[in-house]
Amino acid sequence: MIRKLLRRVFSKAPAPHEPALIPVEQHHVRRESISPGARQTVVRLQEHGHAAYVVGGAVRDLLAGIVPKDFDIATDATPEQVRGLFRRSRIIGRRFRIVHVMQGGETIEVSTFRAGNGDDAETDAHGRVLRDNVFGNMQEDAARRDFTVNALYYDPTTETITDYHHGVADLQQKTLRMIGDPRRRYREDPVRLLRAVRMAAKLGLAIDPAARTPIREMAELLENVPPARLFDEMLKLLLSGHAVECLRQLREEGLHHGLLPLLDVIMEQPLGERFVWLSLASTDARVKAGKPTSPGFLFATLLWHEALAAWEARKQAGEAPFPALHAAMDEVLDIQAGKLAITRRIAADIKEIWVLQPRLENRAGRRPLRAVEQPRFKAGYDFLLLRAESGEVEQELADWWRRFLDADNETRLAMLTPEKKSARRRRRGGKRLGDAAGES
Ligand code: ATP
Ligand code: MG
Repeated sequence: MIRKLLRRVFSKAPAPHEPALIPVEQHHVRRESISPGARQTVVRLQEHGHAAYVVGGAVRDLLAGIVPKDFDIATDATPEQVRGLFRRSRIIGRRFRIVHVMQGGETIEVSTFRAGNGDDAETDAHGRVLRDNVFGNMQEDAARRDFTVNALYYDPTTETITDYHHGVADLQQKTLRMIGDPRRRYREDPVRLLRAVRMAAKLGLAIDPAARTPIREMAELLENVPPARLFDEMLKLLLSGHAVECLRQLREEGLHHGLLPLLDVIMEQPLGERFVWLSLASTDARVKAGKPTSPGFLFATLLWHEALAAWEARKQAGEAPFPALHAAMDEVLDIQAGKLAITRRIAADIKEIWVLQPRLENRAGRRPLRAVEQPRFKAGYDFLLLRAESGEVEQELADWWRRFLDADNETRLAMLTPEKKSARRRRRGGKRLGDAAGES
């Protein structure tokens, strides 16, 4: 009812597939809210006779009163034509070729209008579209996008929004609606299942029942998505600033199974669960405060209790602590690698943070002085604070480190505790083994 009314108000009852052209008096998005680089890029394309618009997340966020994190542009110019217009630009991407245009310090992503997936699209056995890099017109470009709120085109020159699918009205009614038949769209690209949850959490939208109902039954389609894509989408979700809300919803929709294969297990251990939620909340707070976040740190927290369990099992089986820790880390990361394609770099980050944990727990002798000099010390220390907060280690340990870090050199030296004799005697072959759990 209300939607119909709004549709009439905004679009003056368009003929099918005629877009609504919504003037600035109605949507209030001024060209000043578009970044200078994106504006210049649009203007230059237009001056050369091309259609060019700010699209997708940026328009949606501006309408919702959120500061966009970047500005993407859609145009009818081909990648080569775009490349030819901007000296500082390059064509990137294998699946779809898009152009990165550098303007001042900004990188603007410019994509050519693409057609959606016709019935002849190449799919795998589950209906997942394998290739969708066919150029199309603007209307086709709108139709291949996922949600109505993501299919808005803003022209900074006229300050008009072109809206093919009633996205503005949906946003005002706080509804996340899929363009086209939701089941078919999920089958084409199961990552949309995750996107639905992320968008709803980020924007405070309710997922339209037609799009929400199939999520649970279609969840297993995610098993079929290439790990690298799944990983990208999980990172976006976890670093969205709304990770707590997103994961809560993922659980509610039955989507958390198999995503982070160990997440289910972790969530079932009281200590692990508390630790994971604390770490997600702290990541959200950092994102909202505009502080940098690191995927390595985040995944180190998500997988920590798995690593601990694997380490413990190996020690029980008689392995020496230090090799056992390294083997446990590899074991846990290998299981994830199949699903999530954690890059080598991120895996290295995760390990550095983990290896620091036993080192921070062993304060004997001059170890603390050496620990603070480690390149990833700060991350390891932040990690320790979360462990203390979750009750996994004594708060006293975290407090001691906090004081140690605040102290001047002299006080630090006074805080050191002498090496335990018995510990020394147990060492065979000197330093290396004795420091087994402590230093690499
Ligand atoms: P964010 O604020 O997280 O960047 P976004 O909407 O910009 O949100 P992107 O992943 O940057 O999300 O995608 C940009 C746009 O591309 C989306 O707004 C949507 O129109 C389209 N899009 C992205 N992924 C898909 C998909 N899997 N299926 C259909 N359209 C998509
Ligand atoms: Mg975006």
